[in-house]
Amino acid sequence: MTGRNDTRPHIPLGPGGEFDIVRRMLQRWGNLARSIGDDAAIVQLPPNGQLVVSTDTSVEDVHFRREWLTHAEIGYRATAAALSDLAAMAAEPAGIFLALTLPETDVPLVDELADGIGECVASAGTLVLGGDVTRGEKLSLTLTVLGTAIVPLLRSGAKSGDRIYVTGRLGGPLRALRELREGRSPGPALRRRFAHPVPRLREARWLAERGARAAIDISDGLIADARHLAVASGVALHLRAESVPALAGISSDDALASGEEYELLVTSPGPLDAAAFRQEFGLELTEIGEARGDEADVVSTAAGRRVAPPAGYDHFTAQ
Ligand SMILES: [Mg+2]
Repeated sequence: MTGRNDTRPHIPLGPGGEFDIVRRMLQRWGNLARSIGDDAAIVQLPPNGQLVVSTDTSVEDVHFRREWLTHAEIGYRATAAALSDLAAMAAEPAGIFLALTLPETDVPLVDELADGIGECVASAGTLVLGGDVTRGEKLSLTLTVLGTAIVPLLRSGAKSGDRIYVTGRLGGPLRALRELREGRSPGPALRRRFAHPVPRLREARWLAERGARAAIDISDGLIADARHLAVASGVALHLRAESVPALAGISSDDALASGEEYELLVTSPGPLDAAAFRQEFGLELTEIGEARGDEADVVSTAAGRRVAPPAGYDHFTAQ
């Protein structure tokens, strides 16, 4: 896989504060970073794979508040959010690039930030291949992620008759966010779901190999992301609200609306083996509805009756 066999050393960096920051991050990352220091990275791709690329920005006071998270968590979470988009395509990660904007007061916290990024990169089995550091008013991390896939999963792949599945249990991030906003401290499990989401990379490839043919990761909320998939595929997704798996104590509405889950919504023409999935990953896979017809829509029912779905997150729609 890309980068793994790349043992070229970093190119020596010149003097200056910006490069001191890069040097500190490289020291924290050790073998997780490869061949840093030239104007651009050279990435080797496997012969029959397609390059799958995504970029994702996490901005202070838009995507996170510094008082709610440690710098390690900010770094981890931004990286996980970006890698989750590769998971949604069932791509195998090949490397990440970090564009970091840093207020002067955060310079002492660069090591902690790098540790969080490094933790996520290591758990995804990938590498840091390059980046950029600038000074700015707000802390902002833009992660560009590279992956490869022979047959990527697309949002547009769902067809009428497909079964709809979701990974994990939903609602934790919304609940944690609500408690943080109210000045309370979420319990450890909720906090972990919020601060430490896991991009479902291996899970997605497992599902794709077993017949899943459309996928999206749940970043805006199950209903909102189901709508993206329904529109892209030109099908109506009929979801049974009572089947949607929620963490203990989470309402069905909260599970349907909760964003930043980074769980996967997939569709498959045949049944997917939830027991085998759970055995492999220690994670639930739940069938929550089916795709029907050719009119893009999301229909949510509870006890057989249609219910109005909660809205998801949209940066440019008033909340
Ligand atoms: Mg996404």
